[in-house]
Amino acid sequence: MLLVETLIKRSQQKKRISPLNYKERLFVLTRTRLSYYQGRPKKKCRRGSIELSRIRCVEIVKNRGGFIPCQNKYPFQVVYDTNTLYVFAPSNDSRSLWVQSLKEEIKNNPVVLAKFHPQFWQEGAWLCCRQVEKQAIGCEEYNLFGDISRKPLPPVPGELCTPSPRLLPQAPEDDYSDEDEDDNEDEEVVVALYDFLGTEPHDLCLVKGDEYVILEKSDVNWYRAHNKYGEEGYIPSNYVTEKQSGNLVQFAWYSKQVNRNKAEELLRKQDKEGTFIVRDSSTPGTYTVSLYAKSAIGQGGAVIKHYHIKETHGSPKQFYLSEKHQFSSIPELIEYHKHNAAGLVTRLRYPAGEQDKSAPSTAGFSYEKWEINPSELTFMKEVGSGQFGVVKLGKWRAQHKVAIKTMREGAMYEEDFIEEAKIMMRLSHPNLVQLYGICSQQRPVYIVTEFMEHGCLLSFLQQRRGSFSLGSLLSMCLDVSEGMEHLEANSFIHRDLAARNCLVNEALVVKVSDFGMARYVLDNQYTSSSAKFPVKWSAPEVVNFSKYSSKSDVWSYGVLMWEVFTEGRMPFEQHQNHEVVALVTQGHRLYQPKLATPAIYNIMQLCWYERPEERPSFLQLCMMISDTLEDDDLPSN
Ligand code: ADP
Repeated sequence: MLLVETLIKRSQQKKRISPLNYKERLFVLTRTRLSYYQGRPKKKCRRGSIELSRIRCVEIVKNRGGFIPCQNKYPFQVVYDTNTLYVFAPSNDSRSLWVQSLKEEIKNNPVVLAKFHPQFWQEGAWLCCRQVEKQAIGCEEYNLFGDISRKPLPPVPGELCTPSPRLLPQAPEDDYSDEDEDDNEDEEVVVALYDFLGTEPHDLCLVKGDEYVILEKSDVNWYRAHNKYGEEGYIPSNYVTEKQSGNLVQFAWYSKQVNRNKAEELLRKQDKEGTFIVRDSSTPGTYTVSLYAKSAIGQGGAVIKHYHIKETHGSPKQFYLSEKHQFSSIPELIEYHKHNAAGLVTRLRYPAGEQDKSAPSTAGFSYEKWEINPSELTFMKEVGSGQFGVVKLGKWRAQHKVAIKTMREGAMYEEDFIEEAKIMMRLSHPNLVQLYGICSQQRPVYIVTEFMEHGCLLSFLQQRRGSFSLGSLLSMCLDVSEGMEHLEANSFIHRDLAARNCLVNEALVVKVSDFGMARYVLDNQYTSSSAKFPVKWSAPEVVNFSKYSSKSDVWSYGVLMWEVFTEGRMPFEQHQNHEVVALVTQGHRLYQPKLATPAIYNIMQLCWYERPEERPSFLQLCMMISDTLEDDDLPSN
């Protein structure tokens, strides 16, 4: 073997109807073949294999900031015969090593291309040259000896901590026949993470733990699937997970997006002996068990221990917390320690996330359903009022808690908004307040959204001043950056990002709200550069030329971070809007809040670069903030 690493592979869609998907595969490069496996490099796990002599081009894929729907953001391509395989590496170094090693192996191939396509083949066209014929000749000269991945790329923070592929000594190899099982896999099987009670006849109900076969993925939020009885219908895509060994998502004790701080917060909140959570460690691909013990012997009060799950180097891999007790999988390890402390401060009794693992919001209540019947809504109590009218807590069909906004007549451009609402419903992310639907056949119009128990972030900060840890403030910023990253990836501009437009739910998750709504405000106080215009949150190009972009959202995000770290102070408190414009133009910026470390203030300042293109993207902000959060994430066992 020359190289081995877990990378992500995009399905090749040889069949027109097969859904585009991204799967984690163990890639192995030998002197004669590039093969990929599901899990272990054993013949029965092999999903595909390409003879090196048939490879015609290996090169990075230029992505021009396009959205990549998997966690690995460094694509490269392997062109063989008439096919192109797209592979996604976790870092630039990893990608460069794969591309260079493959190029080295194919340099004497007689079939090497003179020209290639530097960008993706996507939805029936080459993104680089717009040709619609898949076999169309390349549009850029191919340089087998160049290394374009070595050109300086925009810095991606956090990149350094991803492991590089291992270089391995040569080993004898199997005799293979060519195949690509992934693309012959007609069936994609998923497992339900939550129960789903369909509300419309075209829905398919889900039973937690049951398996379903995916039939169609043309809507990212609603897949068509069938169950074991052959019944077909739409299911919410965020309620299921790919069925594969090693996928921990289906376990109540695993929480993917919980860092050390959040884990401690959750464990303390439950305050029960033996409460635990398994989460991703700061080193990608590894896991940590965080465990709460109320009365550890000789340690006084309650303690929280963080144990890294260690892996043996041999094959097959074994997992352990205590070297004496090794298991072939993490679920087996957890099962054992549920009954035996075996060196841990206490045994693993209660999964911490269990109560918080309530089903997430779906993108609307059903597939293509945005109109809600007002007679199915019950109003419970008023929870606030804003720009457009009052907001009430209510229920839909007597069981789903919702927030209902009654649109004051004359407050908005209703027709335009109703059209846009259909697009907004498709935006579905754990850090965006979900729009469930609208009642547009009546006046006043109602907007029905996810209900957020703790209301708006600004008041939440102000009411609890002095009670936040650095980690919890950063965690709020991370929540917002992740929601904004989803908007950015979908080319959706918020236009009015501020703490007042974020909401906090029962589990203390912060979500971005009111995205895109600024465009529908019918109030010239707000739309012109006067009293209500959010000048203090606006980038200079917005104030001067109304030039909105994801980068102008980034500026506002910097101000939101400042609001978080001042626990809800008013930016430029001593100044009027027109003075702020002058100050900012002269290069003046908000001061460093007392609670913000220099590293955190530095992130805010990056958002306030005058030139929009110099500001980081939300993806970069997410990575910088999660790195800062994990800085002290050292194992304490
Ligand atoms: P504006 O449009 O002026 O920003 P909103 O109409 O969005 O204000 O909200 C007004 C207030 O109503 C918020 O400050 C918050 O307290 C409450 N609110 C709004 N949306 C929700 C929701 N989804 N869940 C709970 N409370 C909400």
